[in-house]
Amino acid sequence: MSGNRAVAYVGPGEVEVHDIPYPTLELKDGPGVNPANVGRKCNHGVILKVVTTNICGSDQHMVRGRTTAPEGLVLGHEILGEVIEVGSDVEFTKVGDLASVPFNIACGRCHNCKEGKTGICLNVNPDRPGSAYGYVDMGGWVGGQAEYVMVPYADFNLLVFPDADQAREKVRDLTMLSDIFPTGFHGAVTAGVKPGSTVYIAGAGPVGLAAAAGAQLLGAAVVIVGDLQEERLAQARTFGCETVDVSKGDPKDQIEQILGVPEVDAGVDAVGFEARGHGAGSATEAPATVLNSLMEITAAGGALGIPGLYVTGDPGGIDDAAKVGALSLSLGTGWAKSLSFTTGQCPVMRYNHGLMMAILHDRVEIAKAVNATVIPLDDAPRGYQEFDKGAPRKYVIDPHGMLAA
Ligand code: NAD
Ligand code: ZN
Ligand code: ZN
Repeated sequence: MSGNRAVAYVGPGEVEVHDIPYPTLELKDGPGVNPANVGRKCNHGVILKVVTTNICGSDQHMVRGRTTAPEGLVLGHEILGEVIEVGSDVEFTKVGDLASVPFNIACGRCHNCKEGKTGICLNVNPDRPGSAYGYVDMGGWVGGQAEYVMVPYADFNLLVFPDADQAREKVRDLTMLSDIFPTGFHGAVTAGVKPGSTVYIAGAGPVGLAAAAGAQLLGAAVVIVGDLQEERLAQARTFGCETVDVSKGDPKDQIEQILGVPEVDAGVDAVGFEARGHGAGSATEAPATVLNSLMEITAAGGALGIPGLYVTGDPGGIDDAAKVGALSLSLGTGWAKSLSFTTGQCPVMRYNHGLMMAILHDRVEIAKAVNATVIPLDDAPRGYQEFDKGAPRKYVIDPHGMLAA
């Protein structure tokens, strides 16, 4: 085996498919690789032949030039693949296993990992706790929007499917286990959703739709999804969600029309720092809008699940404060109402096994909910463009044509 092809970020608004080195069980130098990680031996790792790898809204922040991602960074943190080589320290994972890769890279050995906080592993990113494949400031682990990828600490990280043939039948659903399904579900869980809850989810992108499907699994009575893109709201309505169009005004009033009261039990932010304003303000960015409106809408004593991403540096921020990630929050509202907040990377491993079982036993149709759309590797630039324009789709790259076949 020698070559490898992968999706690389080449500059604002642009990705290309590049030839890159075939992965080895050692982290080599390359675009975005932290110097302290260069030469890191990964005998605990495996090489995967990538079966599916999805494009994420988190990738779009980089591709829009809204981060400090370097040119040439190989993208891709949502990976499902077949094990084709195992390192000498891998004990349980076998060649031929089909597995989902949590987007968080975790060592399984630090005290955060031991407590299940795999989104903030202490040993994988020299800069700060927490890491991911193909992501700026995350240690430099090479991304998986590629034909082949190396996964470190494989026995700990991989979710191996119990029956590879059965799993192949449901790959379009199972590919959502690496990120958006657990992430959306985590948003709903941390917002306190339980049987009978009323829920407002800001954002009808793939994470918002996954949060909606997650809230339904948890037994919510009413799931309301807000966005300003009508096609995405229509997608939410295909599986029983109520919708509000935030370009028509504050979600609060539209929620009152649906529920009879202007508040919900649980609020989820599936938008993040590139949020638009509401009503007439929706033409422009207003990064604190979603958080402030969720504090207003969520009932006293409730909780906000905040999977939407917020950054510490944003070259495209609307003002000097936003450029360093400082937002104008009306925290007093949240404090007065005793609201709780959960932010950060979703600890995928906390949920992926259970959600896999729900998929395999037909309890949920996540691929349908997010409108999974399979494309070849060479079409990744088109996928990025269409997704950026708000296509109501979750793009799934099929680098070896295995699903197309
Ligand atoms: P996306 O960009 O496709 O979706 C965001 C949606 O929010 C868009 O449809 C946009 O029109 C809408 N929007 C903008 N302003 C709004 C507002 N004021 N109210 C309602 N909707 C508004 O992205 P995605 O893939 O669905 O991801 C959503 C967010 O979740 C991103 O910030 C992403 O980085 C983040 N994310 C976090 C994690 C995690 O572990 N915490 C994992 C995956 C993704
Ligand atoms: Zn993702
Ligand atoms: Zn760890």
